[in-house]
Amino acid sequence: MMKLALHWQIAIGMTLGAFLGISLNIYGGTRNTVVQADKLPTTLTSLEIHDSSNHIKINWTTASGEEHSAIVDGTRKTPGAAATVDELRHTQPEAASWFHQFGRSTARVVGETSQLIGNLFLRLLQMVAVPLIITSLICGITGLGDAASLGSMFLRTILYYICTSAAAITIGLIAVNVFRPGITGDAAPAVQGTETGGQSLGTLLFDQVERMIPTNPIAAIADSHFLSIISFTLAFSIFAVIVGGKTLKAVRAAAEAGFEVMMAMTMAIIALAPLGVLCLMLFVTATQGPAVFKSLFWYLLTVIAALMTHALIVLPLILKFVARRDPIAYAKALSPALLTAFSSASSNGTLPLTLACVENRAGVDNRVSSFVLPLGATINMDGTALYEAVAVLFIGQLYHGAVLPLEQQLIVAITALLASIGAAGIPHAGLVMMIVILQAVGLPIEMQGIILAVDRVLDMFRTSVNVWSDSCGCAVVAALEQGSAKPSSVKTT
Ligand code: ASP
Repeated sequence: MMKLALHWQIAIGMTLGAFLGISLNIYGGTRNTVVQADKLPTTLTSLEIHDSSNHIKINWTTASGEEHSAIVDGTRKTPGAAATVDELRHTQPEAASWFHQFGRSTARVVGETSQLIGNLFLRLLQMVAVPLIITSLICGITGLGDAASLGSMFLRTILYYICTSAAAITIGLIAVNVFRPGITGDAAPAVQGTETGGQSLGTLLFDQVERMIPTNPIAAIADSHFLSIISFTLAFSIFAVIVGGKTLKAVRAAAEAGFEVMMAMTMAIIALAPLGVLCLMLFVTATQGPAVFKSLFWYLLTVIAALMTHALIVLPLILKFVARRDPIAYAKALSPALLTAFSSASSNGTLPLTLACVENRAGVDNRVSSFVLPLGATINMDGTALYEAVAVLFIGQLYHGAVLPLEQQLIVAITALLASIGAAGIPHAGLVMMIVILQAVGLPIEMQGIILAVDRVLDMFRTSVNVWSDSCGCAVVAALEQGSAKPSSVKTT
């Protein structure tokens, strides 16, 4: 029997997951529950729960007769409501736990259960990530042979990161000024808030520099601090080259053996990607209803159109004219990683897959990919940079009822670039970093609540763009390295 190619298997898993999730959301997305007296928690005399995908209401009466309620409203039209169940877990943990125990709709129960299974797949990927990065990076650097090659590759990589992120932000700025989603759309009106304190951009970036010098490399490995791991492994490999001789041979042989085993493990895990992706898609679509998308339609459209422009026009042009690669064939080779990035919303989580695809399916030399990809997953985030710029300017439009002046937009652009460098490659990391940009232009951080409910979906898009840009970077740097009179190092598979 002919075996279906992996990217098709993953695409089918994704579509099936989305189809099942949407059907569940339509037919089993609503539930009204009146908890029977014999099941009530002892502190309550009544508990009623209404669950629909973007609106949850929990009403309860305490033993002393006080009436209370908690609301989750994804569209943020209800004042004081939480935007997501996660937010409710923080603000009213008891109500959230009653909801979990008694009131979830079938769609939510199935969705959250499939999320648990999807998370097992992500855990498998996380399991191989650190040893894969370390062995791969040691192989790559010790294979380069001399420090000068590393220096030139480093410069080219950083230049690529900066240029593509700047291009992404520019596209975002143009889109947000053309579509004006905060003025055109019918998103919830501005919530008045106060500008709050927090860490400054300087502090956050200095944190990153500190991360590059781990006081205890073993602890950094244990805590999966990618930047610390990369900088220590880089230093270790460079010094192995400096020591040279038998030592270098031994280090290289050990790393190669480890890398081979880790790659075999990664390939085995990749075979589970269709199921993992199905579960993650099912979760997102079963628990998110259409209402929230309607209220933020223009905002969603702006972000997605800008991301698409960058991913489908700018990066392919770079791929074609700088890397001299066929963009369609390259995207096909990368599709397992891109689809997993989409459904997991984590570029760090996808990293083992990205490495495997770039090397085994796209034929990029390990010496380039082992350097460009781990670093890129941490600091090169075109999708996130673009998203931050659009989201903050959208909030600015809502808050002021007008487009922000050009100087402010420039501040947003620069801070968005820096924030994307600081953001971790995990789900929703962009939201956390956005606080820095909001502060830089004096916008209240509470207004982030407006976009919270759709962040997961946009995270899926921007994470795929992040991974796509890192992967294109590999081809570009590999081509430039080859062009600078080095012996051919690109595998042809
Ligand atoms: N989820 C993104 C990533 O992993 C980061 C972000 O939240 O923008 O690349």
